[in-house]
Amino acid sequence: MPVVADPSIDARVGLTIRRRFAVLLGVIVIALAAVVGLAMHGLTQVTDRAHVLYSDNLATLAADAEATRTISRVEQLDAAVGGRTDAEQRARAQELDADALPAASTAVNSLIQRHADDDPEELAHVTLVSRGWREFLRLHAVGTRDATGQSTSTEALAASRTLDPVLAELAQLAAREQRDATEAVGALDAGYRHSLSTLLELGGLAVLLALGAVLWLTRTVVPRVGAYSRYARIVAAGGAAEAIDPRGNDELDDLAKALDNLVGEQRRRADADARQAEFASMLQTSQDESEAHQLLLRHLSRSIDGVTTTVLYRNNSDDRLQAMTAVAEESPVAAGLVGAQPRSCLALRFGRRHERDADESQRASLLDCNVCGKVPSSTRCEPLPVGGEVIGSILVEHERPLGESAVACISDTVGQSAPVLANLRNLALAEFRANSDSLTGLANKRAAEDTLKRMVAQASRLVQPMALVLLDLDHFKHVNDRHGHSVGDEVLAAAGATLLNGLRGSDFAGRCGGEEFMVLLPGTDLQGAKVLAEKIRAGLANVRIPGTDDNLTGSLGVAVFPDHAGNAPDLMRAADRALYLAKGLGRDRVVGADALQSPAVPAPAAKD
Ligand code: GH3
Ligand code: MG
Ligand code: MG
Repeated sequence: MPVVADPSIDARVGLTIRRRFAVLLGVIVIALAAVVGLAMHGLTQVTDRAHVLYSDNLATLAADAEATRTISRVEQLDAAVGGRTDAEQRARAQELDADALPAASTAVNSLIQRHADDDPEELAHVTLVSRGWREFLRLHAVGTRDATGQSTSTEALAASRTLDPVLAELAQLAAREQRDATEAVGALDAGYRHSLSTLLELGGLAVLLALGAVLWLTRTVVPRVGAYSRYARIVAAGGAAEAIDPRGNDELDDLAKALDNLVGEQRRRADADARQAEFASMLQTSQDESEAHQLLLRHLSRSIDGVTTTVLYRNNSDDRLQAMTAVAEESPVAAGLVGAQPRSCLALRFGRRHERDADESQRASLLDCNVCGKVPSSTRCEPLPVGGEVIGSILVEHERPLGESAVACISDTVGQSAPVLANLRNLALAEFRANSDSLTGLANKRAAEDTLKRMVAQASRLVQPMALVLLDLDHFKHVNDRHGHSVGDEVLAAAGATLLNGLRGSDFAGRCGGEEFMVLLPGTDLQGAKVLAEKIRAGLANVRIPGTDDNLTGSLGVAVFPDHAGNAPDLMRAADRALYLAKGLGRDRVVGADALQSPAVPAPAAKD
């Protein structure tokens, strides 16, 4: 089941989860701060208005009432004093002067102070009150009364009339303050209601914002957590899930990338294991060394980009190191292999891996490998150890540094190849020994007869001639008799080497037994075969018999398919008869099968 995160989420959100939580916290803190701030502001406003109400209205009202009360008392006492004559009336007059007047003066002063900051309209009332009171006091002070307390002057009479306007002004002031107080209470109520509704609105907005931030956080986090955990479960159960391929940059996306990398690495390993297993099984079915080498090369080049691989082997005589796979002529490895011995390769010499880093090759190394030391790229050479013996090495040239998987691939490949290559090598050696003559290194009689049959069949298929040259060394018995068998062996080996000179890659040379040899020349007619036979004869003349001045000679018979025979046994017989004729004609010569029917040729003498 493919599992992918909603990509639109990442497109919308570029914040890390930690920052998203910080945003959420910030929103909540700001909302709380706003609500608390507004609540405090509202409370302050209500308190201020209450203070105003108290100080500017209620206290002033109280001052007005006190002034009204004291002045009214003065007015009453003043009137009472004027209408009586008894001692009680005098006592009231004394009360007026000693008590009521100072109290009213104090109340009027307090009123003036209380209204000091009022608006001009109120101040006008206060001024009238103040003036009226002062006028009363002045008139009261200059006014005279008789012994009964009756006013005896116009001032005294006027004084009693000044208080009514003052009280009227005070009544207006009180009414005004009453109105202001009512308005202040209304404003207080309105401020309270306004603060409450704003508080509720802001609180609602804060709750909405916090909810939005929580939703946003949930939407951007929870779906991905679900998707990633499903992905992890599928992968853990061994299922195939598409890579998440996250586009964001937060902590969850980091987790998704890590998961992708993990799964990608697992897949790469599984692919590499599958390739390695395929290689191992194919290797087991290799028919020969060459096929195994090609498999190894192809496996490494398809598994690791940009590598060049060369398989190096000790030769059978263990005195040379040779490449078993193609090496480019211009490669420094080709130059390094010219005249190379097994110890020229450091991996072979030390029996352990030899690595060379191209970047560090500028630094002088203690010991350079003669084979790969001049390669411009980096190299890694793994020895091929089998049964405690190193049969060769696998040289890998690489332009880029090898990753962990590439190194593992090379190690696994070498480990799997070494025993198989060793088996194939031993098999090839056994086949070579079974088919070759140990003295001369040429193919033995059985291999020679098989090859003759094969080449005749091939020539028949291709409708081409195929020449057979038989060689028998002359009087070889004498060589043995005179110089000993070991000298005879040496001469036989030299004759075998001479035989190979001048042969083409497609030609074949073998030892039929004793001092007899055969050469097969596909695509060659009688004339060409005679030329080559003469060359062999001339070459034999150059073989000196050790310890003597004697030269080696040989007699050669030549027959050609299909001119002289239509199958391998008949061709062999025809060449043998020609050889017999050469012996009869005096040895050290070449005779073709065409001479067998020629009347000009004398009957050969019996071989001595
Ligand atoms: P001819 O010119 O008629 O061929 O005379 P020949 O002496 O070469 O022929 P013959 O068949 O009589 O003798 C062959 C000799 O080759 C006999 C044997 O001692 C010798 N011979 C055969 N095989 C070997 C070998 O492996 N080593 C050595 N040293 N001699 C061998
Ligand atoms: Mg012989
Ligand atoms: Mg002979």
